[in-house]
Amino acid sequence: MTELIKISQGTVYDPANGIDGEVRDLWIAEGRMVDAPTQPNKKPSRVIDASGLVVMPGGIDMHCHIAGPKVNAARMMRPEEKHNGAIGSVPHTFATGTKYAGLGYTTAFDAAIPPLGARSAHEQFADTPCIDKGFYVLMGNNHYVMQSIQKNEPQKLKAFIAWLLTATKGFAPKLVNPGGVEVWKQTASGNEHGLDEHIDHFNVTPRQIVSQVATAAAELALPHPVHIHCNQLGMPGNWQTTLETMKALEGHCGHMAHIQFHSYGGGDGDENTFNSKVLQLAEYVNSHDNITVDVGQVLFGETTGMTADGPLGYFLSKLLGNKWYSHDTEMEAGCGITPIKYKNKSLVHALQWAIGLEWYLLVEDPWRVVMSTDHPNGGSFLAYPQIIRLLMDRTYRRDVLKTCHPLVSKRSTLADLDREYTLGEIAIITRAGPARILGLKNKGHLGPGADADITIYTPNENQETMFELPRLVIKGGTLIIDQGEVRQTPIGKTLHVQPEHDLDVEPDIQEWFEKHYSIQWRNYPVDASSIEQREVIS
Ligand SMILES: [Zn+2]
Repeated sequence: MTELIKISQGTVYDPANGIDGEVRDLWIAEGRMVDAPTQPNKKPSRVIDASGLVVMPGGIDMHCHIAGPKVNAARMMRPEEKHNGAIGSVPHTFATGTKYAGLGYTTAFDAAIPPLGARSAHEQFADTPCIDKGFYVLMGNNHYVMQSIQKNEPQKLKAFIAWLLTATKGFAPKLVNPGGVEVWKQTASGNEHGLDEHIDHFNVTPRQIVSQVATAAAELALPHPVHIHCNQLGMPGNWQTTLETMKALEGHCGHMAHIQFHSYGGGDGDENTFNSKVLQLAEYVNSHDNITVDVGQVLFGETTGMTADGPLGYFLSKLLGNKWYSHDTEMEAGCGITPIKYKNKSLVHALQWAIGLEWYLLVEDPWRVVMSTDHPNGGSFLAYPQIIRLLMDRTYRRDVLKTCHPLVSKRSTLADLDREYTLGEIAIITRAGPARILGLKNKGHLGPGADADITIYTPNENQETMFELPRLVIKGGTLIIDQGEVRQTPIGKTLHVQPEHDLDVEPDIQEWFEKHYSIQWRNYPVDASSIEQREVIS
């Protein structure tokens, strides 16, 4: 007989279904949410008493770095963080899964996998328990993409994107410093490549890459159309490039990743003029509902910068004087890694912290702004409870602001922002919103048919305390975390897409592939049967 579980009398926050702190019962059967049984004397096989507790759907991290070749390189590169059993900013696979679940997160997406690293990423996913997973596929510096744009062959571009997502078992197209990484590989510059500067050799511009990939993704009706890491990440004055990138979408849906790192005023790399431009950018986002953002919040302390933006990794390592790693992934992508320590007394770092918070507080519609630290770039995902407190408690926020470099209050609007998030709004930016932006119909809510991914919290007036130690976490109907103790470690599903595409284009892709790649065409695609549990999202 199917086990019928009742979660009784919890205070439920389920914004996708319009429920904002109502006491009610929830029912689970076969790993999914179900309606209450219609027979009045139908007894549940198990009752979880949630009275006095807060119930939300499981958290969804839509932008983090938890798998693939660069994460593995970073794991090996940071032994100094792992002394005395510390998990460090780049935890190993098993700890990544259990620590996410320990915070009440049940789904996470790696934001930057080069196609050639797809197989390795899926192998790491198979060892990352407790959460469902997926990844975005790097294609903003892919030679076939740029060549199709140069030759004005949109049908080929569209077929290639669909083929590549299917071959890698990926979830969405990802652009990272579109064109700029290719420039870096050719000329050892590229971090400051502007949106309308031509990429030698291909004679295309980053703007063309953004607009044409967004157009193709829209025509393919992908659940998450295009995920964009803009050009000039981290550079003073980059906000105009960010604004132009939003315009380059030409009304198509697009998600701007870790927008905090792309919202800087000031000129010519000059720290003395560095300031926040969130007000200007948020105004554009507020009036254009085709655009969504995740924040990429910076938190003070030590972490690891890791990015497919090769030139940025190099730039940061020179700026900070730290060790670095760089990698070139054939015709596809690049990568850079370097340790970072964010300090509250540094004007630049403290402004980055403030700029992240401004984004949460200045985007009017919480459905279009998502919590992220760009783990581990701005800080570890383990800092999410701290961000929740910063958003819900303005007194705490102001106390932290007082410890920061004094010019932060002059160069950003943070000191003037009174807004405090409600629990319902936290539920939106950490689960319901990302589910909607990702097109995940069975996640981020607790209505009938949803995956039974549920987090139950003990209320506390200190929201950081409340969110860092959930009372219970349920994944697909199975209790996996009980007051911080790991009870079960189910492997979780891999979520991917396989859009239909024009098969007539494949011979052209194959011809190009065989001319340039170091591996055999037939060995490139990831075999679906190698993934233990997967779900195709359409
Ligand atoms: Zn990222």
